[in-house]
Amino acid sequence: MQRRHFVQTVAAGSALGSLGLLGGCASTTAGGSGPHVVVIGGGYAGATAAKYTRLFSEGKVRVTLIEPNAQFISCPISNLVIGGIKQIADITIPYDNLEKRHGVKIVRDRATAIDPEKRVVKLAGGGEIGYDRLIVSPGIDFMWETLPGMAKPGAQDKVLHAWKAGPQTVALRKQLEDMPDGGVYALSIPLAPYRCPPGPYERACMVAHYFKKAKPKSKVIIFDANDDIQSKKALFLKAWDEHYKGIIEYRPKHRVVDVDAATNTLKFEFNDDFKGAVLNVVPNMRAGDIAVQAGLATANKRWCEVDFLTFESKAVKNVHVLGDAIQIAPAMPKSGHMANQHGKTCAAAVVSLLMGKEPPKTPLYANTCYSFVTDEDVVHVASVHRYDPEKKTMLTVPGSGGVSARASELEGRYALAWARNIWADTLA
Ligand SMILES: Cc1cc2nc3c(=O)[nH]c(=O)nc-3n(C[C@H](O)[C@H](O)[C@H](O)COP(=O)(O)OP(=O)(O)OC[C@H]3O[C@@H](n4cnc5c(N)ncnc54)[C@H](O)[C@@H]3O)c2cc1C
Repeated sequence: MQRRHFVQTVAAGSALGSLGLLGGCASTTAGGSGPHVVVIGGGYAGATAAKYTRLFSEGKVRVTLIEPNAQFISCPISNLVIGGIKQIADITIPYDNLEKRHGVKIVRDRATAIDPEKRVVKLAGGGEIGYDRLIVSPGIDFMWETLPGMAKPGAQDKVLHAWKAGPQTVALRKQLEDMPDGGVYALSIPLAPYRCPPGPYERACMVAHYFKKAKPKSKVIIFDANDDIQSKKALFLKAWDEHYKGIIEYRPKHRVVDVDAATNTLKFEFNDDFKGAVLNVVPNMRAGDIAVQAGLATANKRWCEVDFLTFESKAVKNVHVLGDAIQIAPAMPKSGHMANQHGKTCAAAVVSLLMGKEPPKTPLYANTCYSFVTDEDVVHVASVHRYDPEKKTMLTVPGSGGVSARASELEGRYALAWARNIWADTLA
């Protein structure tokens, strides 16, 4: 669509023609007129971008969100489901309000291909959707090729990652419940960058908390491919010492190179094999399949490079990439909070671009990440990131952020309030 046309539409509030004129051969569209933004993926980044594109354009930009899942299930707080403190229903939120309150059209399907020439997204269900601008937010997918044994039939149903909240979260909880007392739960962490730097260490706390109460002879062993704890190190070490002595054992520099699911065995690059009662393997990650297939993952075919002012892909015009799928800026975590901020920054830029205006030049955003170390006590890490026009990237603002002085029950209440707030900001 021509910028001039959208400016005219906005000014006159008049209809501007059908989507067929805007984005090529669309067979599924958001109703009405005006430019059309299509969002792939209704997670923390995509759902936020969809909602805020509607809000920032005062309803003048049509938005279609493509998402296969019927409901949003949050990874933040999902470790508490694994620890038996929360239920999956507590972290499940319907998508309805995006449609009812904000006029986002939701298409329950999976995007299978992007044609940037025709500006069309193809769907698993057979349809096509045309766009003026496309926002791709598929989160992560796993590099299963780095764990050949996981390709064997049934392996991925037995050895779980639970690194996308949903059925695997419930299934891992069930494995822990079924595990006899005295067994070892072995959690493997991939080399950074991966989704949610403190997430695995929080998970170890939640499983240990459950074992302490229900299976006191059992152990948690963390096999970390990294040289050291990736986030909130002193706070996690203190929690393990205070609450989980003799239960949690941490082994750095243990890179898993294969898994034998039949015998529940982890195979490492340099160390001896390890057989556990329950294996929880978090594999190496990369941008979601659709981003890789569309040629957006230009950094080692793993992550998508973007212009941080607009989140437009450096490889494909009119296509923006958000959330965990991007090649991060220095010290920028792959977190839900950060993905939500990407969503708003991108929405503001996309609406500006469609209106023929320059996108905002000084994005500034924050990140806070809470981790439960017991069922009540929580620690946080926070940071603020500002665009640096010379380096053309986001940099941490000196002196901003930091970590908790100590774990506290007060931060436990903040953490649950943070979750309720970000779910509302993203979806309500
Ligand atoms: C155990 C755990 C704990 C965490 N705790 C925290 C925390 O406390 N705080 C925090 O800020 N972050 C936390 N995170 C990280 C956070 O969950 C992610 O950073 C965040 O979900 C990234 O958002 P996203 O939108 O990029 O991806 P996602 O939220 O994963 O959303 C991607 C969406 O895209 C959809 N999709 C994928 N492919 C397609 C396709 N082809 N077509 C259509 N749709 C598609 C998926 O169905 C999904 O809904 C945690 C993560 C884990 C695993």
